[in-house]
Amino acid sequence: MLLTNGTLLNLIPCRVDRADLRVQNGDIIAAAKNLRPQKGEETVDLSGKYIMPGMVNAHTHLYSALARGMAGPHHPPRNFLEILRKVWWKLDEALDDEAIYHSALVCSVEALRYGTTMLIDHHASPNSIRNSLDAIKEAMSVVGLRGVLCYETTDRGGKRRRDAGLEENERFITENTNNSHFRGAIGAHASFTLNDDTLQALGELARMYDGGVHLHVAEDNADVEDAAKRRRTDIVKRLQKFGILTHKSILAHGVHLSKGQLVAAQATGAWVIHNPRSNMNNAVGYAPLVLFGDRAALGTDGFPADMFEECKLGFFRNQESGHKVGFTRLPEMLQAGQKLVSSFFGREFGTLEADAPADLIVLDYNPPTPLTSENLLGHFLFGMNSGMVVHTMVNGEWRMWNRELVGIDEEKIMSEAAGVAKKLWRRMT
Ligand SMILES: [Zn+2]
Repeated sequence: MLLTNGTLLNLIPCRVDRADLRVQNGDIIAAAKNLRPQKGEETVDLSGKYIMPGMVNAHTHLYSALARGMAGPHHPPRNFLEILRKVWWKLDEALDDEAIYHSALVCSVEALRYGTTMLIDHHASPNSIRNSLDAIKEAMSVVGLRGVLCYETTDRGGKRRRDAGLEENERFITENTNNSHFRGAIGAHASFTLNDDTLQALGELARMYDGGVHLHVAEDNADVEDAAKRRRTDIVKRLQKFGILTHKSILAHGVHLSKGQLVAAQATGAWVIHNPRSNMNNAVGYAPLVLFGDRAALGTDGFPADMFEECKLGFFRNQESGHKVGFTRLPEMLQAGQKLVSSFFGREFGTLEADAPADLIVLDYNPPTPLTSENLLGHFLFGMNSGMVVHTMVNGEWRMWNRELVGIDEEKIMSEAAGVAKKLWRRMT
């Protein structure tokens, strides 16, 4: 397939180029001006359209979609731990295979619409652990997305469930070492729900598979205090001691990490994921973005995978924070997610150059002012939004064309999900 006359946008470093793209066998095999159609090649004219790499959501929970509109707890949660106990740990206990699948399917449909083609998911379903990652994989595959999946190992449900969590991670990693669309990470909930022997087992898996541990770190100060008071140690030192921090490890939030702790964590090569919408919604505090180094990416923590919106909200929140980072910082974090997934897949995502995977989005944006390499980020933050994504391609195939999901009955997916949500809510009460 030849994509002609489009304008290629690269956020970091900022570049605006007119070039044609040749796509074959799931990859971009050429990117240059005036490519000539070859015999039998389909040509798609993208005159007036902008093309960007498909986006990465570096931390999310696909299991949370069916919570939308759900009745809140009788006594509203007063702090972060109560939010977990009264809402999310009730929901995850009630998840069965059917709910896991439909929740993931709803999120996948939305991600595709928003131009997000890769999801790093963090899953929990204590009453349906075995093969739960396959249910998510299956749902994402209906839509054609790529992902890095894991199960949130924890000690909060006892040893049997903990072992099942460890096994599910190991199973998924070993079964997906060569998959073009999926990789496994080693999932863990958070330091404050993990005993030393469990951290030891997680660290051993990380060593065995040269893997990354995906867990929440210092989302709320309670996590830091648990390490300091109950375990009499520093949270980062505790994770380091058991081999949890590797060059592929994914530390979600990092809101309450000190400068020294962030330096120590990132010196191991671990990634920190900023989730501005979720942090604001849970009122856990403002993450010290000024201290986040290069290995920092952007996630939605269960909110829909609209990375345009996450980037904007993160930017605005920073503007009023009194700890301003540069204008390019949030887009840099969005782009860094591409580097993170590249390390899992062993190939470079997030570019529109030859040899890159053909994961791309096409935007219908009419700039009211000149759009150049110098001011691209101004257009991105103040002009563009996910509603402008008209086509989405993953692995060289159009999965959304003219805002219609290809081969997918979206209405049916949503109405089936609503039926499943009703049953799920009933189980929760
Ligand atoms: Zn999370």
